[in-house]
Amino acid sequence: MTQYQQAKAHAVTPAMRRAAERENVPVETIRDELAAGRLVIPANKLHLAGIRQGAARLDPTAIGRAVTTKINANIGASPVSSCLDLELTKLRWAVQYGADAVMDLSTGGDLDAIRTDLIAAATVPIGTVPLYSMIAGKPVEDLTCDDILAAIAAQADQGVDFFTIHAGILRAHIPLAMKRKMGICSRGGSLLAKWMAYHDRENPMYELFDDISAIMAACDVTYSLGDGLRPGCLADASDEAQFAELDVMAELVGRARDAGVQVMVEGPGHIPFNEIEMNMTRQREICDGAPFYVLGPVVTDMFPGYDHITAAIGATAAATCGASFLCYVTPAEHLSLPTPEEVRIGCVATKIAAHAGDVARGHPGARQQDDDISEARASFDWKRQLELAYDSEAAVAIRSRDAGADLDADYCSMCGRDWCAIRISRELKESLSE
Ligand code: SF4
Repeated sequence: MTQYQQAKAHAVTPAMRRAAERENVPVETIRDELAAGRLVIPANKLHLAGIRQGAARLDPTAIGRAVTTKINANIGASPVSSCLDLELTKLRWAVQYGADAVMDLSTGGDLDAIRTDLIAAATVPIGTVPLYSMIAGKPVEDLTCDDILAAIAAQADQGVDFFTIHAGILRAHIPLAMKRKMGICSRGGSLLAKWMAYHDRENPMYELFDDISAIMAACDVTYSLGDGLRPGCLADASDEAQFAELDVMAELVGRARDAGVQVMVEGPGHIPFNEIEMNMTRQREICDGAPFYVLGPVVTDMFPGYDHITAAIGATAAATCGASFLCYVTPAEHLSLPTPEEVRIGCVATKIAAHAGDVARGHPGARQQDDDISEARASFDWKRQLELAYDSEAAVAIRSRDAGADLDADYCSMCGRDWCAIRISRELKESLSE
């Protein structure tokens, strides 16, 4: 039985217990939210057990509105740049800087070997887009139904914890997408649209959905319903194509649950800030509360090189009003495959959005961390302030530029001692309380 089926049967599993312990919430909360479909624990049975001797075992994590907002880092080689060691470094850095899950989006190099080694090294859930391995080395037009089911089964047996399956984009949606400025910006969506146009047939992922579900249920792989028609620019946001696909995804949420498979739904994309709340509300209503996994959203198109910031702004709003899972965006977005350093920056930027969202929506315990560091800051307890900083290493490096190892000063070089507002305010407080 999958975690979802066990929760429906009112059972509590070790994975539910561990997820509850990590969140400091009662295990019944995890179980009941799972049973309602509002929370998922992406945990392939094989990854939970350790896919081979000496391999890392998955540390289960919960994704849903009842727990803290989670973040995902996309890594993976491309046909232009592929190096297993580099991808393993990115995995390490992603986890070190806060990624709760990592997706291997490799499209180049030895896809099987990269995937196997990433799963073996990961204590966080690993997600993939199985379509990529189905068409590696051949044109998408040659893709057959047998290829699809074989690749899904092979990756489930490898221990992948969640699959992005672009089953919501249908043949009838393609003309809607062709009216757009950017067309189809999702790799999976564009490849499947090409297949549909060539064969003049329906999306095979949609037609095979129940067969795919049966394979996924056997290993408890979680669906991440891919948004093949997510808008790739502000001009295409919240359009007919995007919402037509969302309606199909709502149907698929029901079918996944009927098959006992955990399911979350992927979301936009590029969305103007003022449309984010409407998008979150619409998804949650239509998809019966299934956890929403947003890609950004990027709130403006004109800052390539800084899209970790444009995305963090949108992700904060999304986390505040409905999303449960934020896909990071790095400074390399739209430009290049990210380096490990850009993975670090993307993770921290997205973690800021997740935490700010948790504070804004009043998630229990989230604010305490802000109050603790503020207390240290107000009392010039530099040691504690630097320890509590999310990225202590970065904070220490900046602090020590002017102050060296001095942790006793009652000011910093920003204003200098005589102009230090915090010091002046402390002295004022002391003199007024005398
Ligand atoms: S010197 Fe300025 S920036 Fe530094 S602690 Fe004081 S008020 Fe804050």
